Amino acid sequence: MSILIVGAGLSGAVIGRELAEAGHAVTILDARPHIGGNCHTERDPDTGVMVHVYGPHIFHTDDQGVWDYVTRFATFEPYKNRVKSTVGGQVYSLPVNLHTINQFFGTAMRPDEARAFIAERAEDIPEPQNFEEQALAFVGRDLYEAFFKGYTEKQWGCDPRELPASILKRLPLRFNYDDNYFFHKYQGMPRDGYTALIQRILDHPVITVQLNTTYDPATGGDWDHVFWSGPLDGYFNYDLGRLGYRTLNFERFTAQGDYQGCAVMNYGDRDVPHTRITEHKHFSPWEEHEGSVLYRETSAEAGPDDIPYYPIRLVAEKELLTRYIAQAQATPGVTFVGRLGTYRYLDMDVTIREALDTAQTWLDTQKAGTAMPAFVNAPL
Ligand SMILES: Cc1cc2nc3c(=O)[nH]c(=O)nc-3n(C[C@H](O)[C@H](O)[C@H](O)COP(=O)(O)OP(=O)(O)OC[C@H]3O[C@@H](n4cnc5c(N)ncnc54)[C@H](O)[C@@H]3O)c2cc1C
Repeated sequence: MSILIVGAGLSGAVIGRELAEAGHAVTILDARPHIGGNCHTERDPDTGVMVHVYGPHIFHTDDQGVWDYVTRFATFEPYKNRVKSTVGGQVYSLPVNLHTINQFFGTAMRPDEARAFIAERAEDIPEPQNFEEQALAFVGRDLYEAFFKGYTEKQWGCDPRELPASILKRLPLRFNYDDNYFFHKYQGMPRDGYTALIQRILDHPVITVQLNTTYDPATGGDWDHVFWSGPLDGYFNYDLGRLGYRTLNFERFTAQGDYQGCAVMNYGDRDVPHTRITEHKHFSPWEEHEGSVLYRETSAEAGPDDIPYYPIRLVAEKELLTRYIAQAQATPGVTFVGRLGTYRYLDMDVTIREALDTAQTWLDTQKAGTAMPAFVNAPL
Protein backbone atom coordinates (compact mmCIF):
# COMPACT_ATOMS: atom_id res chain seq x y z
CA MET A 1 0.00 0.00 0.00
CA SER A 2 1.19 3.53 -0.60
CA ILE A 3 0.72 5.67 2.48
CA LEU A 4 1.47 9.37 2.62
CA ILE A 5 1.71 11.43 5.78
CA VAL A 6 1.73 15.18 5.35
CA GLY A 7 3.66 16.87 8.16
CA ALA A 8 6.67 15.63 10.13
CA GLY A 9 5.50 17.08 13.45
CA LEU A 10 4.51 14.91 16.40
CA SER A 11 1.26 13.77 14.75
CA GLY A 12 2.91 12.65 11.52
CA ALA A 13 5.93 11.08 13.23
CA VAL A 14 3.90 9.01 15.71
CA ILE A 15 1.42 7.78 13.09
CA GLY A 16 4.32 6.95 10.76
CA ARG A 17 6.17 5.01 13.45
CA GLU A 18 3.11 2.96 14.43
CA LEU A 19 2.34 2.03 10.83
CA ALA A 20 6.00 1.24 10.14
CA GLU A 21 6.16 -1.05 13.17
CA ALA A 22 3.05 -2.83 11.84
CA GLY A 23 4.92 -3.47 8.58
CA HIS A 24 3.68 -0.62 6.34
CA ALA A 25 6.15 1.59 4.49
CA VAL A 26 5.28 5.29 4.79
CA THR A 27 6.38 8.50 3.11
CA ILE A 28 6.34 11.65 5.23
CA LEU A 29 6.57 15.08 3.62
CA ASP A 30 7.13 18.40 5.31
CA ALA A 31 7.18 21.85 3.78
CA ARG A 32 9.73 23.06 6.32
CA PRO A 33 13.49 22.41 6.19
CA HIS A 34 13.33 20.47 9.48
CA ILE A 35 11.28 17.78 11.21
CA GLY A 36 9.42 18.36 14.49
CA GLY A 37 6.70 20.79 13.39
CA ASN A 38 6.07 23.47 15.99
CA CYS A 39 7.94 21.50 18.65
CA HIS A 40 11.22 21.98 16.73
CA THR A 41 14.26 22.82 18.87
CA GLU A 42 17.77 23.65 17.74
CA ARG A 43 21.00 24.71 19.39
CA ASP A 44 21.96 28.32 18.84
CA PRO A 45 25.46 28.08 17.28
CA ASP A 46 26.80 31.15 19.14
CA THR A 47 25.65 30.46 22.70
CA GLY A 48 24.97 26.70 22.62
CA VAL A 49 21.50 27.31 24.09
CA MET A 50 18.74 24.89 23.05
CA VAL A 51 16.17 27.19 21.43
CA HIS A 52 12.46 26.32 21.17
CA VAL A 53 12.14 27.84 17.72
CA TYR A 54 8.32 28.15 17.59
CA GLY A 55 7.88 29.05 21.26
CA PRO A 56 8.60 27.18 24.48
CA HIS A 57 7.30 23.65 24.95
CA ILE A 58 7.04 21.87 28.29
CA PHE A 59 6.03 18.24 28.33
CA HIS A 60 3.39 17.28 30.91
CA THR A 61 0.95 14.39 31.08
CA ASP A 62 -1.11 12.07 33.24
CA ASP A 63 -1.28 9.51 30.44
CA GLN A 64 0.96 6.61 31.47
CA GLY A 65 0.98 5.17 27.92
CA VAL A 66 2.15 8.46 26.43
CA TRP A 67 4.84 8.90 29.09
CA ASP A 68 6.09 5.36 28.43
CA TYR A 69 6.08 6.16 24.70
CA VAL A 70 8.16 9.35 24.88
CA THR A 71 10.62 7.96 27.40
CA ARG A 72 11.25 5.06 25.01
CA PHE A 73 12.76 7.53 22.55
CA ALA A 74 14.37 10.17 24.78
CA THR A 75 15.75 10.80 28.24
CA PHE A 76 13.66 13.36 30.07
CA GLU A 77 15.04 15.76 32.66
CA PRO A 78 12.74 16.91 35.47
CA TYR A 79 11.25 20.33 34.77
CA LYS A 80 8.58 22.34 36.59
CA ASN A 81 6.94 25.24 34.79
CA ARG A 82 7.06 28.26 37.12
CA VAL A 83 5.90 31.50 35.55
CA LYS A 84 6.29 35.06 36.83
CA SER A 85 4.35 38.17 35.85
CA THR A 86 5.40 41.80 35.86
CA VAL A 87 2.41 44.02 36.64
CA GLY A 88 2.46 47.67 37.67
CA GLY A 89 6.24 47.61 38.20
CA GLN A 90 6.21 44.57 40.51
CA VAL A 91 6.96 40.91 39.95
CA TYR A 92 4.37 38.35 41.04
CA SER A 93 4.13 34.58 41.02
CA LEU A 94 1.72 32.81 38.65
CA PRO A 95 -0.72 31.09 38.51
CA VAL A 96 -2.29 33.51 41.01
CA ASN A 97 -1.65 31.78 44.34
CA LEU A 98 -1.54 32.69 48.02
CA HIS A 99 1.85 34.34 47.56
CA THR A 100 0.49 36.48 44.71
CA ILE A 101 -2.62 37.44 46.70
CA ASN A 102 -0.69 38.34 49.85
CA GLN A 103 1.90 40.31 47.88
CA PHE A 104 -0.72 42.11 45.78
CA PHE A 105 -2.88 43.18 48.73
CA GLY A 106 0.05 43.62 51.19
CA THR A 107 -1.40 40.99 53.55
CA ALA A 108 -0.25 37.83 55.35
CA MET A 109 -3.46 35.79 55.06
CA ARG A 110 -3.76 32.08 55.63
CA PRO A 111 -5.69 29.99 53.06
CA ASP A 112 -9.14 30.26 54.68
CA GLU A 113 -8.73 33.96 55.30
CA ALA A 114 -7.71 34.54 51.69
CA ARG A 115 -10.64 32.49 50.44
CA ALA A 116 -13.10 34.59 52.47
CA PHE A 117 -11.34 37.81 51.43
CA ILE A 118 -11.58 36.95 47.71
CA ALA A 119 -15.20 35.77 48.07
CA GLU A 120 -16.01 39.23 49.45
CA ARG A 121 -14.37 40.98 46.48
CA ALA A 122 -15.88 38.69 43.83
CA GLU A 123 -18.78 40.39 42.05
CA ASP A 124 -22.29 39.01 42.30
CA ILE A 125 -22.95 37.98 38.69
CA PRO A 126 -25.23 34.90 38.76
CA GLU A 127 -24.93 34.06 35.06
CA PRO A 128 -21.73 35.51 33.58
CA GLN A 129 -22.20 36.24 29.87
CA ASN A 130 -18.59 36.76 28.84
CA PHE A 131 -14.95 36.33 29.91
CA GLU A 132 -14.86 39.60 31.86
CA GLU A 133 -18.02 38.85 33.83
CA GLN A 134 -16.79 35.34 34.56
CA ALA A 135 -13.47 36.68 35.87
CA LEU A 136 -15.18 39.36 37.97
CA ALA A 137 -17.47 36.70 39.44
CA PHE A 138 -14.46 34.55 40.33
CA VAL A 139 -11.80 37.00 41.53
CA GLY A 140 -13.20 40.57 41.68
CA ARG A 141 -12.02 43.66 39.87
CA ASP A 142 -8.52 44.24 41.35
CA LEU A 143 -7.08 40.86 40.48
CA TYR A 144 -8.96 40.74 37.18
CA GLU A 145 -7.50 44.03 36.01
CA ALA A 146 -3.97 43.19 37.18
CA PHE A 147 -3.60 39.61 36.00
CA PHE A 148 -6.28 38.82 33.41
CA LYS A 149 -7.59 41.87 31.57
CA GLY A 150 -4.49 43.34 29.86
CA TYR A 151 -2.94 39.95 29.16
CA THR A 152 -6.15 38.61 27.61
CA GLU A 153 -6.61 41.75 25.48
CA LYS A 154 -3.08 41.36 24.14
CA GLN A 155 -3.35 37.63 23.60
CA TRP A 156 -6.73 37.65 21.86
CA GLY A 157 -6.63 41.13 20.31
CA CYS A 158 -10.14 41.98 21.51
CA ASP A 159 -12.08 43.19 24.52
CA PRO A 160 -12.54 40.36 27.06
CA ARG A 161 -16.28 41.15 26.94
CA GLU A 162 -16.28 39.77 23.38
CA LEU A 163 -14.91 36.40 24.54
CA PRO A 164 -17.13 33.61 25.86
CA ALA A 165 -17.31 32.99 29.61
CA SER A 166 -16.40 29.35 28.96
CA ILE A 167 -12.71 30.27 28.37
CA LEU A 168 -12.39 30.67 32.13
CA LYS A 169 -13.86 27.40 33.29
CA ARG A 170 -12.56 27.12 36.84
CA LEU A 171 -11.56 29.53 39.59
CA PRO A 172 -8.10 30.58 38.37
CA LEU A 173 -6.71 31.01 41.90
CA ARG A 174 -4.86 28.77 44.33
CA PHE A 175 -5.17 29.26 48.05
CA ASN A 176 -1.75 27.76 48.80
CA TYR A 177 1.83 28.47 47.73
CA ASP A 178 1.92 25.95 44.88
CA ASP A 179 3.32 27.78 41.84
CA ASN A 180 3.74 24.71 39.62
CA TYR A 181 1.82 25.62 36.47
CA PHE A 182 0.69 22.09 35.67
CA PHE A 183 -1.00 19.47 37.86
CA HIS A 184 0.11 16.51 35.77
CA LYS A 185 1.96 13.58 37.32
CA TYR A 186 4.74 13.56 34.70
CA GLN A 187 6.51 16.75 33.67
CA GLY A 188 9.85 17.14 31.99
CA MET A 189 12.01 18.20 29.10
CA PRO A 190 13.71 15.88 26.60
CA ARG A 191 17.41 16.28 27.40
CA ASP A 192 18.48 16.72 23.76
CA GLY A 193 15.42 18.71 22.69
CA TYR A 194 12.17 17.79 20.93
CA THR A 195 13.67 17.48 17.45
CA ALA A 196 16.04 14.74 18.68
CA LEU A 197 13.05 12.95 20.25
CA ILE A 198 11.08 13.15 17.00
CA GLN A 199 14.15 12.13 14.98
CA ARG A 200 14.32 8.92 17.02
CA ILE A 201 10.61 8.27 16.49
CA LEU A 202 11.16 8.65 12.72
CA ASP A 203 14.26 6.48 12.72
CA HIS A 204 12.82 3.29 11.18
CA PRO A 205 13.93 1.50 7.99
CA VAL A 206 10.52 1.76 6.23
CA ILE A 207 9.93 5.47 6.98
CA THR A 208 11.04 7.92 4.28
CA VAL A 209 11.07 11.62 5.17
CA GLN A 210 11.27 14.38 2.56
CA LEU A 211 11.77 17.93 3.82
CA ASN A 212 11.29 21.21 1.92
CA THR A 213 8.39 19.52 0.14
CA THR A 214 4.96 21.12 0.16
CA TYR A 215 2.20 18.69 -0.66
CA ASP A 216 -0.57 20.03 -2.84
CA PRO A 217 -3.69 17.83 -2.62
CA ALA A 218 -4.72 18.83 -6.16
CA THR A 219 -1.51 17.55 -7.76
CA GLY A 220 -0.07 15.29 -5.05
CA GLY A 221 -0.43 11.99 -6.89
CA ASP A 222 -2.20 8.75 -6.11
CA TRP A 223 -1.95 7.35 -2.60
CA ASP A 224 -3.92 4.54 -1.01
CA HIS A 225 -4.29 6.67 2.09
CA VAL A 226 -3.23 10.16 3.14
CA PHE A 227 -2.89 11.37 6.76
CA TRP A 228 -3.04 15.16 6.64
CA SER A 229 -1.65 17.16 9.60
CA GLY A 230 -1.70 20.46 7.68
CA PRO A 231 -4.51 23.02 8.05
CA LEU A 232 -7.99 21.58 7.44
CA ASP A 233 -9.03 24.58 5.32
CA GLY A 234 -5.67 24.43 3.49
CA TYR A 235 -6.48 20.95 2.19
CA PHE A 236 -9.43 22.49 0.34
CA ASN A 237 -7.41 25.48 -0.87
CA TYR A 238 -9.40 27.72 1.53
CA ASP A 239 -12.33 27.62 -0.89
CA LEU A 240 -14.93 28.38 1.82
CA GLY A 241 -12.73 31.04 3.47
CA ARG A 242 -10.01 30.89 6.12
CA LEU A 243 -10.42 29.49 9.62
CA GLY A 244 -9.21 32.18 12.04
CA TYR A 245 -5.97 31.77 13.96
CA ARG A 246 -3.86 33.91 16.26
CA THR A 247 -0.20 34.04 15.31
CA LEU A 248 2.82 34.86 17.44
CA ASN A 249 5.69 37.15 16.60
CA PHE A 250 8.97 36.38 18.31
CA GLU A 251 11.51 39.18 18.54
CA ARG A 252 14.73 37.29 19.20
CA PHE A 253 17.51 38.92 21.18
CA THR A 254 20.60 37.77 23.03
CA ALA A 255 22.24 38.72 26.32
CA GLN A 256 25.18 37.76 28.48
CA GLY A 257 24.66 35.90 31.75
CA ASP A 258 21.18 35.65 33.20
CA TYR A 259 18.79 38.23 31.68
CA GLN A 260 15.62 37.71 33.70
CA GLY A 261 16.33 34.90 36.17
CA CYS A 262 13.47 32.68 35.00
CA ALA A 263 12.22 30.93 31.87
CA VAL A 264 8.93 32.82 31.43
CA MET A 265 8.13 36.38 32.46
CA ASN A 266 4.61 37.53 31.54
CA TYR A 267 3.72 41.19 31.13
CA GLY A 268 0.15 41.85 32.27
CA ASP A 269 0.03 45.63 31.69
CA ARG A 270 -1.91 46.73 28.62
CA ASP A 271 0.60 49.47 27.76
CA VAL A 272 3.45 46.95 27.43
CA PRO A 273 2.97 45.56 23.91
CA HIS A 274 4.46 42.10 24.46
CA THR A 275 2.73 39.32 26.38
CA ARG A 276 5.89 37.67 27.68
CA ILE A 277 9.65 37.21 27.41
CA THR A 278 11.05 33.69 27.39
CA GLU A 279 14.70 32.94 28.21
CA HIS A 280 15.46 29.65 26.57
CA LYS A 281 18.43 28.44 28.59
CA HIS A 282 16.19 28.23 31.64
CA PHE A 283 14.18 25.51 29.86
CA SER A 284 17.33 23.34 30.15
CA PRO A 285 18.38 24.06 33.75
CA TRP A 286 20.79 21.11 33.73
CA GLU A 287 22.96 22.94 31.15
CA GLU A 288 25.24 25.94 31.64
CA HIS A 289 25.76 28.70 29.08
CA GLU A 290 27.39 32.09 29.40
CA GLY A 291 25.26 33.64 26.65
CA SER A 292 21.49 33.73 26.56
CA VAL A 293 18.79 33.67 23.84
CA LEU A 294 15.44 35.33 24.46
CA TYR A 295 12.14 35.80 22.66
CA ARG A 296 9.96 38.85 23.19
CA GLU A 297 6.52 37.58 22.23
CA THR A 298 3.54 39.44 20.80
CA SER A 299 0.28 38.04 19.54
CA ALA A 300 -1.65 39.09 16.41
CA GLU A 301 -4.36 37.91 14.07
CA ALA A 302 -2.84 35.45 11.58
CA GLY A 303 -2.74 36.64 7.96
CA PRO A 304 -2.38 34.24 5.01
CA ASP A 305 1.45 34.28 5.26
CA ASP A 306 1.70 33.92 9.04
CA ILE A 307 2.22 30.70 10.97
CA PRO A 308 -1.16 29.68 12.42
CA TYR A 309 -0.66 29.08 16.16
CA TYR A 310 -3.87 29.24 18.17
CA PRO A 311 -7.26 28.39 16.60
CA ILE A 312 -9.78 31.09 17.54
CA ARG A 313 -12.88 28.86 17.59
CA LEU A 314 -15.47 31.54 18.30
CA VAL A 315 -18.97 31.39 16.81
CA ALA A 316 -18.04 32.44 13.24
CA GLU A 317 -15.11 30.01 13.04
CA LYS A 318 -17.20 27.12 14.35
CA GLU A 319 -19.80 27.75 11.67
CA LEU A 320 -17.11 27.66 8.95
CA LEU A 321 -15.49 24.65 10.62
CA THR A 322 -18.79 22.74 10.37
CA ARG A 323 -18.75 23.28 6.61
CA TYR A 324 -15.13 22.14 6.25
CA ILE A 325 -15.89 19.04 8.33
CA ALA A 326 -18.64 18.16 5.84
CA GLN A 327 -16.17 18.56 2.95
CA ALA A 328 -13.60 16.40 4.71
CA GLN A 329 -16.15 13.68 5.36
CA ALA A 330 -16.98 13.66 1.66
CA THR A 331 -13.30 13.13 0.75
CA PRO A 332 -12.44 9.42 0.83
CA GLY A 333 -8.90 8.20 1.48
CA VAL A 334 -7.85 11.13 3.69
CA THR A 335 -7.71 11.35 7.48
CA PHE A 336 -7.29 14.78 9.08
CA VAL A 337 -5.12 14.74 12.19
CA GLY A 338 -3.29 16.91 14.68
CA ARG A 339 -3.71 20.48 15.80
CA LEU A 340 -4.13 21.97 12.30
CA GLY A 341 -6.01 19.08 10.68
CA THR A 342 -8.67 19.17 13.40
CA TYR A 343 -8.44 22.93 14.17
CA ARG A 344 -7.99 22.46 17.92
CA TYR A 345 -5.36 23.49 20.46
CA LEU A 346 -3.69 20.23 21.47
CA ASP A 347 -0.96 19.74 24.02
CA MET A 348 1.82 17.39 22.97
CA ASP A 349 0.62 14.51 25.12
CA VAL A 350 -2.88 14.71 23.63
CA THR A 351 -1.35 14.95 20.15
CA ILE A 352 0.59 11.73 20.77
CA ARG A 353 -2.40 9.94 22.29
CA GLU A 354 -4.58 10.87 19.31
CA ALA A 355 -1.85 9.86 16.83
CA LEU A 356 -1.51 6.45 18.51
CA ASP A 357 -5.31 6.00 18.39
CA THR A 358 -5.44 7.11 14.75
CA ALA A 359 -2.79 4.60 13.70
CA GLN A 360 -4.59 1.84 15.61
CA THR A 361 -7.92 2.76 13.99
CA TRP A 362 -6.34 2.60 10.54
CA LEU A 363 -4.78 -0.82 11.27
CA ASP A 364 -8.18 -2.05 12.55
CA THR A 365 -9.99 -0.84 9.43
CA GLN A 366 -7.41 -2.61 7.26
CA LYS A 367 -8.04 -5.85 9.10
CA ALA A 368 -11.82 -5.46 9.04
CA GLY A 369 -11.96 -4.20 5.44
CA THR A 370 -13.92 -1.10 6.51
CA ALA A 371 -13.44 2.55 5.55
CA MET A 372 -11.10 4.78 7.53
CA PRO A 373 -12.98 7.86 8.83
CA ALA A 374 -11.98 11.42 7.92
CA PHE A 375 -11.57 12.18 11.63
CA VAL A 376 -10.68 9.80 14.43
CA ASN A 377 -10.93 12.79 16.79
CA ALA A 378 -13.87 15.05 16.00
CA PRO A 379 -12.97 18.74 15.55
CA LEU A 380 -16.23 19.84 17.23
C1 LIG B 1 3.21 28.65 21.11
C2 LIG B 1 2.87 27.23 21.45
C3 LIG B 1 3.36 26.69 22.63
C4 LIG B 1 3.06 25.37 22.97
N1 LIG B 1 3.52 24.89 24.13
C5 LIG B 1 3.21 23.63 24.49
C6 LIG B 1 3.65 23.13 25.75
O1 LIG B 1 4.31 23.81 26.53
N2 LIG B 1 3.31 21.86 26.08
C7 LIG B 1 2.56 21.07 25.23
O2 LIG B 1 2.28 19.91 25.58
N3 LIG B 1 2.15 21.52 24.01
C8 LIG B 1 2.46 22.78 23.64
N4 LIG B 1 2.04 23.25 22.41
C9 LIG B 1 1.32 22.34 21.50
C10 LIG B 1 2.25 21.62 20.49
O3 LIG B 1 2.93 22.57 19.69
C11 LIG B 1 1.37 20.70 19.61
O4 LIG B 1 0.80 19.70 20.42
C12 LIG B 1 2.14 19.99 18.48
O5 LIG B 1 2.95 20.86 17.75
C13 LIG B 1 1.14 19.36 17.51
O6 LIG B 1 1.84 18.61 16.53
P1 LIG B 1 1.24 18.41 15.07
O7 LIG B 1 2.12 17.43 14.41
O8 LIG B 1 -0.22 18.11 15.15
O9 LIG B 1 1.32 19.85 14.37
P2 LIG B 1 2.57 20.70 13.87
O10 LIG B 1 3.66 20.66 14.90
O11 LIG B 1 2.04 22.03 13.50
O12 LIG B 1 3.09 19.95 12.58
C14 LIG B 1 2.43 20.05 11.34
C15 LIG B 1 3.48 19.98 10.24
O13 LIG B 1 2.81 19.89 8.97
C16 LIG B 1 3.58 20.59 8.02
N5 LIG B 1 2.71 20.93 6.89
C17 LIG B 1 1.54 21.62 6.92
N6 LIG B 1 1.02 21.70 5.67
C18 LIG B 1 1.88 21.05 4.84
C19 LIG B 1 1.87 20.77 3.42
N7 LIG B 1 0.88 21.18 2.61
N8 LIG B 1 2.91 20.05 2.91
C20 LIG B 1 3.92 19.62 3.71
N9 LIG B 1 3.95 19.85 5.05
C21 LIG B 1 2.95 20.55 5.61
C22 LIG B 1 4.07 21.81 8.78
O14 LIG B 1 5.22 22.36 8.16
C23 LIG B 1 4.37 21.22 10.16
O15 LIG B 1 5.72 20.84 10.29
C24 LIG B 1 2.28 24.58 22.10
C25 LIG B 1 1.78 25.14 20.92
C26 LIG B 1 2.05 26.46 20.60
C27 LIG B 1 1.45 27.04 19.36
